[in-house]
Amino acid sequence: MCGIIGYTGINEAVKKVTQGLEILEYRGYDSVGICASVGGKLEIVKTKGRVSELNKLLANEPIQNDLCAIGHTRWATHGAPSYVNSHPHMVGKTCLVHNGIIENYKEIKSRLENEGVNFVSDTDTEVGCGLINYYYEKTNEPYEAILSASDKMRGSYAFAIMFSDEENTIYAIRQGSPLIIAKGQDGFYLASDLTALIPFTKEYYSLCEGEVVKLAGNKAEIYQKGEPQWKRTDMTYEMAKKGGYDHFMLKEMYEQPKAIENSLSSRIKDGLPDFSVDGMDKSFFEEIKAIHIVACGSAMHAGLVASHLIEKLAFVPTRVYIASEYRYTPPLTIDDTLVVVVSQSGETADSLASLRYAKEKGFKTLGIVNAVETTIAKEADYRAYTYAGPEIAVATTKGYATQVSLMSLFAICLAYNKGKIDTNTAKDLTTCLFSHAPKALGEVLERRDEVKEIAKLIYERDDIFYIGRGIDYQMSQEASLKLKEISYIHSQAYAAGELKHGTISLIECGTPVIAIATEEKLFDKIDSNVKEVRARGAYTILICDGEMENAQECADKVFILPKSSYIGNIFSSLAVAQLIAYEVARLRGCDIDKPKNLAKSVTVE
Ligand code: GLU
Repeated sequence: MCGIIGYTGINEAVKKVTQGLEILEYRGYDSVGICASVGGKLEIVKTKGRVSELNKLLANEPIQNDLCAIGHTRWATHGAPSYVNSHPHMVGKTCLVHNGIIENYKEIKSRLENEGVNFVSDTDTEVGCGLINYYYEKTNEPYEAILSASDKMRGSYAFAIMFSDEENTIYAIRQGSPLIIAKGQDGFYLASDLTALIPFTKEYYSLCEGEVVKLAGNKAEIYQKGEPQWKRTDMTYEMAKKGGYDHFMLKEMYEQPKAIENSLSSRIKDGLPDFSVDGMDKSFFEEIKAIHIVACGSAMHAGLVASHLIEKLAFVPTRVYIASEYRYTPPLTIDDTLVVVVSQSGETADSLASLRYAKEKGFKTLGIVNAVETTIAKEADYRAYTYAGPEIAVATTKGYATQVSLMSLFAICLAYNKGKIDTNTAKDLTTCLFSHAPKALGEVLERRDEVKEIAKLIYERDDIFYIGRGIDYQMSQEASLKLKEISYIHSQAYAAGELKHGTISLIECGTPVIAIATEEKLFDKIDSNVKEVRARGAYTILICDGEMENAQECADKVFILPKSSYIGNIFSSLAVAQLIAYEVARLRGCDIDKPKNLAKSVTVE
């Protein structure tokens, strides 16, 4: 959340920074701003709202600097979205943009106010700026000033900083928030994530915690380390574009079959799961006695599906924790517990904090991450990348699907290495996952028109329930989240048998209840649960396996999943739920890729 970008080089600084901000906008879109040095002074243009607003302002009053600029798109934490709270912030000679939260900003603020510093915004960021400026005015030494200020700040931050008396130079530091720098033919760049820089260059270096970098002219220098060790990404600019789809979310949904194959292919050998590319061999799996899966939002829901499979196949006790709670629920530990931290961005602050907590407690840790070279990936003892490719829509689709597919393969691998399933079963399950999952998911996406009809029936409602049993209950949680986060309809997922223990009182005439039924042994039970709500006036929609008897009579509307397997059904029912959310949000005229109040890559706790 919050996108930072900077450029120093030979041309079009403002244009490059605004272009990068457009890509970064999914990280926050409350306000936007830019700073460049003009004639020995720093000039700032900023506004509440989106990059398009900034572009209008810049079209009317262009900033005349082609050599150096920094920019920011905000997801507000301290202070409402407004002009005065938007970044860049400037105190004295120091101007900066920030991603993160300075937790002790109040005490720093009052100390600086006692020294006569005047603050105008409600943000923690301006206080950080004031503190750096305080030390800069004392020492006139940027590096010293940044380090001294950093020493005093608690929390998480990535800063891109300019000083008014040092033209065309950017300093940057990160602590807990992501920041990468990159080297192009035309100069140097920095950004919160690599996607924003793909139009310009592929050579990048992801800054380590506490590193201070100076970008100026033809040089990028990390203090006390020198020239960064550049790496190359194989991401292409095409990947970060909509490619003819109306929304990134839709594009990413259609990319899922390929993404799932990518996530699995390097981890299957001779038809069996094999995680040796990730450094996890037979003994790694044999030693695992318990698992904690720690994550937030959809990644946590992916963990729920995985925990179901792990316990079902491998009989390893697995508990799923909400990352923001993990540190406050001291886990009951047994030796050889593996802590699996799941995060699309690899920078989710709550998940990162949990990872550090788990390491501190001596657990072995595994990061399941999409964005390569990110903090969780780097700090975990083991890492497995999901290889979903860049995900731009704020609401995850292919990120989630690849987390589920990768962890399902992990479950099969664990069961096999622990001797809970034989070679043939392991091979069968692996084939189901590798071939049925992408196929079934793709087949549902071809039936978008059917889902459009369902969406028309429910899009005007205020409340929608999802119900399911077993793995379908776990799936329902993601289905419900997807719907509410992009359509703003209140939605809840319930274990189908639990509804009657209280929540059924909310069912009114016409309340949509969507039931997922993919597990054969639970068909009769879910049938009864659907009947219970239907008898009370609910408008019932059933998403079910074709083997479910009398499905057409069970509910008002039925979507029969393509013929597949237990594992294939997990993915095909997911695709139906994603399409329902998408089509409902579309009918309601919502900003699908950028839902209100949200942002991607949640780098604050
Ligand atoms: N705390 C800063 C603000 O509210 C930055 C927020 C963020 O990075 O999400 O402006």
